[in-house]
Amino acid sequence: MEQANFPESVVIVGAGIFGLSTALAIARRHPTTRVTVIDRLTPPVEDGTSAEMTRCIRADYADPIYARLAAESQMLIEADPDLRRHYFKSGMTFACDGKPGRFLDIWKRGLENVKMRQDPTTIVEMNTPEEVFKSIHGPAAELVPESEFGRERQWNIGYCNLNDAFIDATESVRIYYQRCLAEPSIAFRCGTPVSRINKSNGVAVGVILEDGNVINAETTLIATGAWSNSLVDLEGLMYSSAIEVAWLKVTEDETERWKNMPITTNMSTGFNIFPPYNCEIKCLRRSPGYCNTVTIPHPEEDDSKMIEISLPRTMVTNPTDIIPAEAEDALRDNLRELMPSLANREFDRTKLCWLSQTPTADFIIAPHPRIRKLHVATGGSGHAWKFLPIIGNMVLDSMEGQLHSELMEKWAWGRQGKDGGNAPRVDGKAKELQYVVRSKS
Ligand SMILES: Cc1cc2nc3c(=O)[nH]c(=O)nc-3n(C[C@H](O)[C@H](O)[C@H](O)COP(=O)(O)OP(=O)(O)OC[C@H]3O[C@@H](n4cnc5c(N)ncnc54)[C@H](O)[C@@H]3O)c2cc1C
Repeated sequence: MEQANFPESVVIVGAGIFGLSTALAIARRHPTTRVTVIDRLTPPVEDGTSAEMTRCIRADYADPIYARLAAESQMLIEADPDLRRHYFKSGMTFACDGKPGRFLDIWKRGLENVKMRQDPTTIVEMNTPEEVFKSIHGPAAELVPESEFGRERQWNIGYCNLNDAFIDATESVRIYYQRCLAEPSIAFRCGTPVSRINKSNGVAVGVILEDGNVINAETTLIATGAWSNSLVDLEGLMYSSAIEVAWLKVTEDETERWKNMPITTNMSTGFNIFPPYNCEIKCLRRSPGYCNTVTIPHPEEDDSKMIEISLPRTMVTNPTDIIPAEAEDALRDNLRELMPSLANREFDRTKLCWLSQTPTADFIIAPHPRIRKLHVATGGSGHAWKFLPIIGNMVLDSMEGQLHSELMEKWAWGRQGKDGGNAPRVDGKAKELQYVVRSKS
């Protein structure tokens, strides 16, 4: 039902999944509110985190809140006739090296969790490296001897959740963009970045673009993913870093051979590989990642104060960049054990994919604590995409002050704690990109 005192105008900065999903939610709940969505580029934004060949859709979280929300969202994706055309129920195998430690614990919790919640016929347990290998290459496949990759095996045990899927994220974002365009109350302003939030006496009154144009609105939402700390002082609650992704071309025969493989990931090494899609295989590693520290004017103060933050350096800003050598080595090291015939194949292309990370891997969906009429929806932390159909409603609930208390607490500004393993990465600190960056020759 339309709420009488909802603002007449809203500016949303950022047309990734947070921004587009929220724009649609506002248009449906408050059709008389004018919504302006602003982005540096037109969606699907090629260097944004939401536009990608594939994203995993899975509900097998250890955290019961994300598990419930992800299951609800997955059902909506499956029921959506447009998204469903780009959705593939491949299943997903979670492997690990089986050695005692954090990753084995996360792996065990994950398995217990799916066993508790799901029909046992949707879970395939693998107790040996052979079983993990055969889940990709078929029953006749033979393991590569350890001597060929020169270290102990790391793909030792696993389980496949047959309910998990992947989706063409770029096409899905395009669908959401088109849905927004079809709403008479939503307008887009793409091509010029926002430079600052426009404030008057501590109240946000819209934004100022880099070309000096001013866009006024009663309420402003910052949903700028890994760029968020350039517009808002997030006080270290969120940081931007990037992880390596690479694509390999595969032949039609190889596509046929691996067409039934599940998405396969290793909790211990962070490696993740997708089945062939459009004659390509995509792999990535949830590595400690890379940061790009820059000095910028303080986003919220008008004096000459400067701050240091990490900001995305992308295929748009630096089109000749390729992933660092050590990142390539780590991907190939995993391929040597798991997909030996691809291990020495040239990558068709690579990129660093930027993440907006919070220490707990919980999103930040909250009012700004110091600037009134300003809201933030960011901190996707490597796992927010799957909530596309529902995240906008929850951001809107938050803007209306009606977010369920357990979610309000989870996504509060200032939440402290440790990563509970919702999108676990291997240990280590992000490296400064400028020291390891490489360019296409
Ligand atoms: C390698 C990788 C794998 C992932 N895998 C999964 C997965 O399998 N499943 C899953 O659920 N999630 C996954 N995620 C996470 C998911 O993709 C993100 O959490 C989600 O896409 C973040 O969306 P967003 O809207 O916050 O950011 P974005 O999509 O980056 O949107 C932010 C937008 O803000 C715009 N912007 C920035 N600054 C400005 C400015 N000053 N002015 C105007 N516009 C601006 C940008 O151009 C951009 O379009 C993964 C992430 C990565 C990096």
